[in-house]
Amino acid sequence: MERSLNIDPLRDALVVVDVQNDFCDGGALAVPRGDDVVAPINRALALRWAATIGTRDWHPANHGSFRALGGPWPPHCVQGSKGAAFHPLLDAARFRFVVDKGTAPADLGYSMLEGTDLAERLRSAGVRRVFVSGLATDYCVKATVLDLAREGFEVFVLTDAVRAVNVRPEDERDALAEMERRGARWAKTTDLSGEGE
Ligand code: ZN
Repeated sequence: MERSLNIDPLRDALVVVDVQNDFCDGGALAVPRGDDVVAPINRALALRWAATIGTRDWHPANHGSFRALGGPWPPHCVQGSKGAAFHPLLDAARFRFVVDKGTAPADLGYSMLEGTDLAERLRSAGVRRVFVSGLATDYCVKATVLDLAREGFEVFVLTDAVRAVNVRPEDERDALAEMERRGARWAKTTDLSGEGE
């Protein structure tokens, strides 16, 4: 665990994964205590970053991950629906980029790098470190963190700003361990300092 991390507004990026109504309290695929990530994420968003990216699960009505089509999940985050909208208290106006994923029926869309040129764009913007927050630790956060690490970024998981689904009780622990094995490090939003916006 890092003590205090100074955010470099030219080299550090913040990624906020899928903080959408369907993954929060009362949503179609609510993550336990998913709403708890909103306040820490807003605190991080108030700092100055080289890039701030909000991702959205953004599925067609016939998405392959839905149970009716043989997938594991109830319908969620259908394009344009209220469930697909960002949590109303999330400071989404601060996102420089919004990345939609899982937009085609066969496109799972767990990682924000899947099928996008985002890694290249971040690199050419001078980004070296990426701080990742959001939902859920054991799916889209993990997939995004592993892809960012593979692309050579220094990746930090903001542990107070992520929550897990835990289909199996050990999923969160396993996901964190796997991310750590691939080089990810931990930090809390309360450890971050930097210029305010
Ligand atoms: Zn989905």
